Amino acid sequence: MKKILVTGGAGFLGRHICGKLLEDGHDVICVDNFFTGTKSNIVEFMDHPYFEVMRHDVCFPLYVEVDEIYNLACPASPVHYQHDPVQTTKTSVHGAINMLGLAKRINAKILQTSTSEVYGDPEVHPQTEDYWGNVNPIGIRSCYDEGKRCAETLFFDYHRQHGLKIKVARLFNTYGSHMHPNDGRVVSNFIMQALKNEPITIYGDGEQTRSFCYVDDMVNVLIKLMDSPDNILGPVNVGNPGEFTILELAQKVIDFTGSSSKLELKPLPHDDPTRRRPDISYAKKHLGWEPEVKLDDGLRKTIEYFEQTLKEEAM
Ligand code: NAD
Ligand code: UDP
Ligand code: UDP
Repeated sequence: MKKILVTGGAGFLGRHICGKLLEDGHDVICVDNFFTGTKSNIVEFMDHPYFEVMRHDVCFPLYVEVDEIYNLACPASPVHYQHDPVQTTKTSVHGAINMLGLAKRINAKILQTSTSEVYGDPEVHPQTEDYWGNVNPIGIRSCYDEGKRCAETLFFDYHRQHGLKIKVARLFNTYGSHMHPNDGRVVSNFIMQALKNEPITIYGDGEQTRSFCYVDDMVNVLIKLMDSPDNILGPVNVGNPGEFTILELAQKVIDFTGSSSKLELKPLPHDDPTRRRPDISYAKKHLGWEPEVKLDDGLRKTIEYFEQTLKEEAM
């Protein structure tokens, strides 16, 4: 049994990682300031004898004793990370410094959930880990993109300077149950709109692409990465290489829900990347991993979850 800290553990992905680690028999500490995460996400773990929650902001020092740290704390939806952009950069940078300082003191292994946003609006397609990206340093997405880039720098410097055991994963768009219904990201937005027969909001012409990974595949690869040999540091792209336009996604959601929703075109936000798809050769070769859940199947499961949530709300 390992003692494991999950920062951002009450968020969408954090909740799934906490659940899997508990299932695997570990002792889990979930640290969260509940900015985008919710207690309802983790309520089912509260009675578990090896689950502990701490309300804490990672921008401030944290003193706990653990074997491993999954550093997820950071709002991930553009709407939320742009709501208080200074706090977003602080969370990424001060949060990384504190968690790395913690890992250094207790000699823990630490994994960073970085992002495909480090590639910005990519000129290389699909994106490979050796591509340095095309990122606007002063735009509305920069608080997140540059914050995450700086966090990667810190991880590699703590590794080189202090010999820390680090793992850096670059996550591409991930979806599934326990996303917040008002999270603002495309999959949860479209499903909620479709289930309520409200207009589906397409930003721009909907021809921009994304690659969507189902949450179970993502949790598996993050745990695989943490458990991989010490010489596997990353950065490693993790995501599903299937690439879809936003219009294609909208059509699937309408078809699978049987919704009467119509499409509504809205302005494209600034610096919205035009295309995104991971090259996952590194993950295949070094972690023996590739995603198993197809978009259609993952969407159906996610729709079921949101349907259930709406039913419970109505009761
Ligand atoms: P989320 O917003 O659902 O979860 C983030 C969690 O971090 C929330 O519970 C939030 O309350 C918490 N948090 C935010 N600031 C904090 C702070 N200062 N101190 C403590 N807790 C704080 O997002 P998610 O989708 O679960 O993303 C988790 C991580 O994965 C993030 O770091 C994100 O950047 C990264 N990521 C996610 C995706 C994706 O598609 N889901 C893609 C790329 C990267
Ligand atoms: N830190 C922490 N928990 C610990 C050890 C350190 O939160 O158990 C924080 C501490 O506040 C410090 C940061 O991590 O500011 C970086 O620590 P490091 O030892 O790298 O640098 P220094 O203490 O010299 O600033
Ligand atoms: N998007 C959209 N309608 C929405 C939400 C998002 O068309 O209601 C688009 C958004 O402009 C982007 C893509 O969907 O091109 C993915 O957006 P999301 O916020 O999920 O994540 P991103 O990959 O942009 O960080």
